[in-house]
Order: sequence, then structure tokens, then C-alpha cells
Amino acid sequence: MPQTLAQWLQNSPLPKSEARMLLQQATGLSRAQLITRDGNILAADIQTTLDALAARRLQGEPMAYILGSREFYGRPFAVTPAVLIPRPETEHLVEAALAHLPPGGKVWDLGTGSGAVAVTIALERPDARVRASDISRAALAVAAQNAQALGATIEFAHGSWFAVDRPSECGSYDVIVSNPPYIEAGDAHLTQGDLRFEPQHALTDFSDGLSCIRTLVENAPQYLKHSGRLMVEHGFNQGAAAREIFTGSGFKEVVTLVDLAGLDRITCGQW
Ligand code: GLN
Repeated sequence: MPQTLAQWLQNSPLPKSEARMLLQQATGLSRAQLITRDGNILAADIQTTLDALAARRLQGEPMAYILGSREFYGRPFAVTPAVLIPRPETEHLVEAALAHLPPGGKVWDLGTGSGAVAVTIALERPDARVRASDISRAALAVAAQNAQALGATIEFAHGSWFAVDRPSECGSYDVIVSNPPYIEAGDAHLTQGDLRFEPQHALTDFSDGLSCIRTLVENAPQYLKHSGRLMVEHGFNQGAAAREIFTGSGFKEVVTLVDLAGLDRITCGQW
């Protein structure tokens, strides 16, 4: 039975805001056009596409993967299942980096994923020199696509943490940032909600949740300038442990910043 756009929206079991976004995606209409044309009949092929998108959402797949995009710091970032979906709390990591970046400063974002952090820093501070790396080539392709689409200049490198395929100048970075995988192995959240659709290696270290933070803290000093800063995102219950790792390695002025929910989220230290 052919339906009008309004009827499809009415009949969809999805929340109306999500149903509307999927309708925009399948028809290519803007939000305003959707309203003025809601009496139009849905073409059969578009309805097939639309029903397939709705079925994915009903299976629990995150909207960001279905739409292929998520907003971060006010800009649209392409996302695929090869990358973690950018989270609002990670915007604090960007703010912390921006606050400590001197004019013409150098930044390295390790485990860049979609490139949300690196690309945002590069766009907010065109004077900065930004490097981004990841162990996943598929993630680097998404990050490069975002850099190009948003007009950011980033130097990309491939590899695990500091072991990348392009030489990294020792003692030259003002800021090193990372949103590493920090969920403990076996945490029930990994198999629930949005997280079960995301790359597991971007979420968990398959260990105690702190191993990547240790790797970052132990190796960053080699690449930081004197008085440069390392800033790392972590779980709400990892603040004390993160501060201990930072101070134990000789970082000064170690502080944990809270997210909008008031939860420990980012630990920073000065070298
Ligand atoms: N903040 C994410 C979550 O708990 C985890 C992101 C990460 O491991 N870097 O949903």
C-alpha cells in the first residue's frame, strides 16, 4: 500500500524525531521540505530504503551509523562502524587542549578514530600544527575524509600509540591528547546499547581499563616539550587511578576535569 510521508511517519514505531531523520535521509528532503511535502506519496523504492533504515534502528543500531554522521563541537563528522561515535564529553578534551596550546603550537592526537578531536583543534586553531594517528587504517581513512570535508590540515600517521610509521620529533609537542579505549575487559556495557555496535578495540583495552593510559603516560614525556601537557580522557571512576599514574611518572600540576554531568573525565599533567 503506497503511503504519504505523513502516514509513514505516523505509522513508524520509532520516536518521531528519529523517524523524521530517517525520512530525510531516504528522501534527501530537508526538514522544511518534509513539512511542506508531507502529503506526497512515498515512491516504492524510497519506501524500501526507508523501511530498511528503520529496521536497523529497531535492532538498536546507533543513529550515527545509520545516518553516517554525528555532530561534534558544532560540526558534522562522518562516522562508520570502523570508528567510535564522537561523544559530547570528549568536547572537554578539545577545550583543555585549546586552553593550553600556545600560538603556533604542536599537538598530537593518538587514537584519533573519526578525527573529531584533531580536526576540531585544527579548525579552531589554524595556527597550530596537528598530527593524528591510529592503529586502524579504516579509522584513518574516516579521519582523513573528515579533515578534507571540513577543511582541516592534519598530518596523519599509522601505528600503535607512539610506534607510528612517520618519524615523530622528540621533545617537540606542546600538547598530546588522547581518548583511548578505557573500559575494563568484561564490562557489561560493552555488550549493551550503542557500544555493542562500536569497534571493541576503540572501547576496551581488554585488560584493566588503564593499560592504554599507562602507555600514553610512560611514553608521552619523550615527545613533549619542557612544560608541555598530556591530556587523556577516561572513565568516571578512573580519576584517582589516572592521577596516580601521571604523578608516578613525574608529571606536575596533575588535575582531573569533570564533564557536564560532574563526573571525572579528563586528567591532565604538565611535563
Ligand atoms: N565514553 C565511552 C563510553 O563509555 C567510552 C569511550 C572510550 O573508551 N574511549 O561510552
